[in-house]
Amino acid sequence: METLKLNNGVEIPSIGLGVWKMDDATLAYKAIRFALDLGYRHIDTAMIYKNEEVVGKAIKDSGIAREEIFLTTKLWNDDQRSGKVTEAINASLKRLNTEYVDLYLVHWPVKETYISVWEKMEKVYQDGKTKAIGVSNYQPYHLDELLQKTEIVPSVNQIECYPYLSQEAVITYCKGKGIHPEAWGPLGAGKTDILTNPIMQGIAKNHNKSTAQVALRWNLQRGVIIIPKSVHENRLSENFSIADFSLTAEEMKQINRLDKNMRLGPHPDNFDF
Ligand code: NAD
Repeated sequence: METLKLNNGVEIPSIGLGVWKMDDATLAYKAIRFALDLGYRHIDTAMIYKNEEVVGKAIKDSGIAREEIFLTTKLWNDDQRSGKVTEAINASLKRLNTEYVDLYLVHWPVKETYISVWEKMEKVYQDGKTKAIGVSNYQPYHLDELLQKTEIVPSVNQIECYPYLSQEAVITYCKGKGIHPEAWGPLGAGKTDILTNPIMQGIAKNHNKSTAQVALRWNLQRGVIIIPKSVHENRLSENFSIADFSLTAEEMKQINRLDKNMRLGPHPDNFDF
C-alpha cells in the first residue's frame, strides 16, 4: 500500500475507503470488514455520516492493530458554529471506540467561523486527540486567510474532484503550501456519465482496466489521495487494484481535457447546511 507523507511527517495511505451513505449498519460493517481484509488501511468517515460506531466496531473486530489503520473523521458545521470542537471530537472518539483519529477535518468552511474554529482544531491536535488536522471544501482564499492568521498549516484539503471537475487551481495552490489534496467523489459519486465516457472507455481498454480504475489512477498520478466508496465486494477490490498500471502522459492530458467544472455537490461558497 503506497503511503504519502503529510506536512507534519504523518503517513497516509493514498487510497482510502469512503463511507458516506453507508447507512445500513449491517451492510456497512460487512463492507468495511471486507475492505480491511483486502488491505485497505484508510477509512474516511464523519460525524454527519452517522456510522462512526460501525466503523469503530469493524476496525476492532478486524484484529488489525489500531496504529496500522489511518482513520479520518470530520467536525460537522453545527459543532463549528457552537464552538464545541473538543466536545465534538470527544464524542466522535467515543463512538469510534478509539483514543485518537489520524486526521480530523473541518467539514465545510462555515463563513462566520472558519478562522476561529482553526484555533480550536489546533488545541485538539496539541492534546493528541488527532495525529493531523485539516480542512475540507476550502477554496484558496479561505486557506490564504487561515495561513495568515493561524499557526498550524492544515495537512489536508479534502475537495470534490473527479475528471469533470479537475480542480487544477485548488490542487496547485494546496501543493504550493504543503497542504495535501484529497479527492471526495472521485468516481463522480454515481451521478454522472464519467464512467461511460468514450475517452475514459478508450483509455480503460488500453490497459484492460475499468473506467473507475482509470478515474482513480488519474487522481493518484496527480498526487491526489482518493477515498472511493462502495459496499460491493467486486467494486471494493476493483477500486483497490490500481497500483499495477500507469497512465501515459498523453492519457493524463486526455483526461485533464475532460474538465468542465461540473460540481455534483454544493459550491463551498454556497451551501445551506
Ligand atoms: P464516489 O465518487 O466514491 O462514488 C461512489 C459511487 O460510485 C458508489 O455509490 C457507486 O454507485 C459507484 N461506484 C463505486 N465503485 C465503483 C466501481 N468500481 N465501478 C462503478 N461504479 C462504482 O462518491 P462519494 O461516496 O460521494 O465520495 C467518496 C467519499 O468521499 C465518501 O464516501 C465520503 O467518505 C467522502 N465525501 C466527503 C465529502 C466532503 O464534503 N468532505 C463529501 C462527499 C463525500
